Amino acid sequence: FYGPLEQVNECLWRIPKSYKEGMRVDGLIFADEKLMELIRKDQAAEQVANVAFLPGIQRASLAMPDIHWGYGFCIGGVCATDPNEGGVISPGGVGYDINCGVRLVRSSLFYQDVKPHLKRLMDTLYTHVPAGLGQDGKYHFSHKELRQLMGQGASYLKKRGLVTANDLEHTEAGGYLNTAEPDSVSERALTRGSQQCGTLGSGNHFLEVQVVDAIFDAEAAETMGLEKDMVCVMIHSGSRGLGYQVCDDALRELRQAPAKYGIHLPDKQLVCAPVNSDEGRQYLGAMSAAANYAWCNRQLLMWQARESFELVFAKGWEALQMSLVYDVAHNIAKLEEHDVNGTQKKVWVHRKGATRAFPKGHPEIPSQYAAIGQPVIIPGDMGRASWVLVGAQGSMEQSFGTACHGAGRVMSRTAAVAHAAGRRIDQELLAKGIEARARSWRGLAEEQPDAYKDVDLVVDVVHRANLARKVARMRPIGVVKG
Ligand code: 5GP
Ligand code: MN
Ligand code: MN
Repeated sequence: FYGPLEQVNECLWRIPKSYKEGMRVDGLIFADEKLMELIRKDQAAEQVANVAFLPGIQRASLAMPDIHWGYGFCIGGVCATDPNEGGVISPGGVGYDINCGVRLVRSSLFYQDVKPHLKRLMDTLYTHVPAGLGQDGKYHFSHKELRQLMGQGASYLKKRGLVTANDLEHTEAGGYLNTAEPDSVSERALTRGSQQCGTLGSGNHFLEVQVVDAIFDAEAAETMGLEKDMVCVMIHSGSRGLGYQVCDDALRELRQAPAKYGIHLPDKQLVCAPVNSDEGRQYLGAMSAAANYAWCNRQLLMWQARESFELVFAKGWEALQMSLVYDVAHNIAKLEEHDVNGTQKKVWVHRKGATRAFPKGHPEIPSQYAAIGQPVIIPGDMGRASWVLVGAQGSMEQSFGTACHGAGRVMSRTAAVAHAAGRRIDQELLAKGIEARARSWRGLAEEQPDAYKDVDLVVDVVHRANLARKVARMRPIGVVKG
């Protein structure tokens, strides 16, 4: 990126709207000098500038320090639009994997309890949690059942005994967007989704056994039930083939919308429609339905993880205290109330590779966390670390209540595979005490730790910028990859 990047402070950079004719607001990127060096290397910052063209965009086109190039919008991007000012909704601002997200489950086990059984635990998780491209799961839903599931969100699983009230309480939005219109989801998407609910998928998605490595905020950690050396499970997955098809369908259906509504775009991949248009409403209904499916998917993945622990440790999951700490979405658009230059407004916040990070006292935080803020769960990579944070006040003032979603890639998948030539990533991990299980060598190669930025640096910026506060650093001891 060769455009202008003005340093605002040690954690913030501006692309002024004068950079390109058509930008309605500035671009703002949260990063320090070191991360900025990486960010300059690709065209993600150009994408931040392009998003500033969108009608109805509020305040600024934002990006988090894990920013990297994506379809139309960068990954790590945040954009809020006001429907009353012609604001648009854009599938590229949500991403192909609608409601991709992460959840964290705690347990009563500590590292020394699990270490002697780690190999068997990982083997058991690997056989019980379906992973890999196109892999079917053990839960099947007819098209009719899927429509109900998408209409109700995660609470649909109650009647099958696969979700508890406590699980729902600890899921963003209670695992349910009431804007879902299951009838707007194509038959093709339903067919793709009917056997995939409760499956991890491939690539970046994972189920990881982690240990609390260090605690930075004792009060918040205690409130979340986290202690040093405690064993936890982190799950990362989204809406599988169903969500992908919803996005694909929408990109096709919206192709003519910019011309029809007189919207000028610098990049065709930013295709969008006014929120208040037939096309916009159609996508919002289908996207919300796919988001509800994703919450069911992560719930079923967690359920299978609990069952695996029951097998290995010969105790029920309740006795193992495997409660859900929190579940966050990081590819989603939601209608939220925010202060924009002194006025309270309802805006559509697009978070694409970005995590909601509401501070303490916000009405949408579960009562258990009211005094600490919303848990923000940040995966890093399978060899170094992941993080738990809580939303901080600065997020409402600066980023529409948002923080980063990961470390972010530094190598393309192809580059990562080349970088792994001749190496055994599984053995390198094992040497660090990490048991890896994956369907393919290529999968591990693409996802090797070197392919990502150092998550500690990314989280540090988010913390210093007061978007979210550090609570606990997690280190991996076992990973299942698609
Ligand atoms: P994305 O949703 O953008 O595909 O991935 C989110 C983040 O997950 C990435 O930016 C990366 O930091 C992290 N990540 C990818 N693979 C793994 C993994 O195997 N383990 C952990 N802990 N994090 C990962
Ligand atoms: Mn995903
Ligand atoms: Mn994701």
